[in-house]
Amino acid sequence: MDDKMTRREALKGLFFAGMGLAVGGPLLHSVRADAAGVPAVSPWEEAPEGSRIDTRTWEKMGETLGMLGLGCMRLPSRSGGGGGFGRHQPLDQEAVNEMVDYAIAHGINYFDTAPAYGESEVVTGRALSRHPRSSYKIATKISNMNGPATLAAGKEMFETSLKNLQVKYIDFLLLHNLQNIGGFNSRFRDNKLFDWLKQQKAAGRIKHLGFSFHGSNAEFPALVDLYDWDFVQIQLNYADWKEMSRGWGSGGGSVTNSEFLYNYLVGKGIPVLVMEPVKGGALASVSDGVAAVMRERHPDLTPAANALTFVGSLPGVMVTLSGMSNMAQLKENVSIFTGFKPFDEKEREFMLTVADLYKSKGQIPCTACAYCMPCPAGVNIPGNFKVFNSASDALTAADPNRKDVADKRKAFLKLYNDQEKGTRADACVGCNACVPKCPQHISIPQHMQRIKELAASL
Ligand code: SF4
Ligand code: SF4
Repeated sequence: MDDKMTRREALKGLFFAGMGLAVGGPLLHSVRADAAGVPAVSPWEEAPEGSRIDTRTWEKMGETLGMLGLGCMRLPSRSGGGGGFGRHQPLDQEAVNEMVDYAIAHGINYFDTAPAYGESEVVTGRALSRHPRSSYKIATKISNMNGPATLAAGKEMFETSLKNLQVKYIDFLLLHNLQNIGGFNSRFRDNKLFDWLKQQKAAGRIKHLGFSFHGSNAEFPALVDLYDWDFVQIQLNYADWKEMSRGWGSGGGSVTNSEFLYNYLVGKGIPVLVMEPVKGGALASVSDGVAAVMRERHPDLTPAANALTFVGSLPGVMVTLSGMSNMAQLKENVSIFTGFKPFDEKEREFMLTVADLYKSKGQIPCTACAYCMPCPAGVNIPGNFKVFNSASDALTAADPNRKDVADKRKAFLKLYNDQEKGTRADACVGCNACVPKCPQHISIPQHMQRIKELAASL
């Protein structure tokens, strides 16, 4: 754990005080202001050449890590897109090389991939192998959640990762997507795979062992307490801090929130690795109303920068992982963590009010990870959710005849119809194949039904 933070401080919620982080100030352009004096576009400026992102040192594990990590799940594809669909598409090696080179030159030394991310391991391995092994840390996973969960299959997955990544050891190895103790037992304990992984760690082929979590608060302590984990990866962002929304139609279910998960880990002295700090991009493209509230408070920060700063300001966070798809995202993220300027307690409270506003817009909490894909019926699940979210406030508004609401609904219908036939929500046959695959526990078929009905009613 960061030696600048005591457990007591963290537990008391004094997350942002006395962090002693270097403050280089925001990297500002001059800003155009609208009539209300609020900048129309939040600016950011590329980090100066030769500059490097801020680091934190984790004494117990003997690592100094850049505060920002490159998540390799949404790498650029040859067809031009990024996003979780990268896992289903051929990736653009040259574009990935360029991103990796820039990342390393600017102090990013944590690269996160997984066998479940399509070509990601191979392409990331090629890009990293052009650099000295000491200049980067690799995190990859045992992604046996969709089977087969045998010892032989687990061993093979690990050995393939080493080959794909062109390395002799993995710095950070995660049991991928644990949700409860039953899943751990069936995927790792009963088949002796966990014993084998611990042997690999003892042999130096794994430096640090952890797991990534997608379950509820109730399931978390038992998983954390079953082993002396070196780190744990959780979903953490300002919108999920108090409660991870499952969106309408999802029913009740168990409660999960980033605050509980974070505090539990910090209380145990376990470094926190953060995924989805921008909620799969959703917090980078919030509605105009939500963006304006943040812009008025921080004219120099984009919505994504607000989200990343919220996470980076938490002293128990080892690395903030952001899944990046292009150089523009990478450069902006690097600029945020270069001379990082943490939020204080007041800013944290402010971001929690933004979270309430964000949630009042009725968004479906899809992170576009594409774990649910491919859909056997051909539905583009994250694509339909993106289209819905672009107008969620209008689609759930009480007064459909208000001009701005009507205009937004029209725009939604156009985007919906612009999707290729057979990929729209109306192609969903309700087979439920996608439901257990979604780490956000979204009731996908119900949402598809609702989107289909909305589109038909407009
Ligand atoms: S429930 Fe609908 S969206 Fe999900 S896999 Fe089946 S057809 Fe596809
Ligand atoms: S619906 Fe769930 S699994 Fe599918 S892309 Fe969204 S968050 Fe990922």
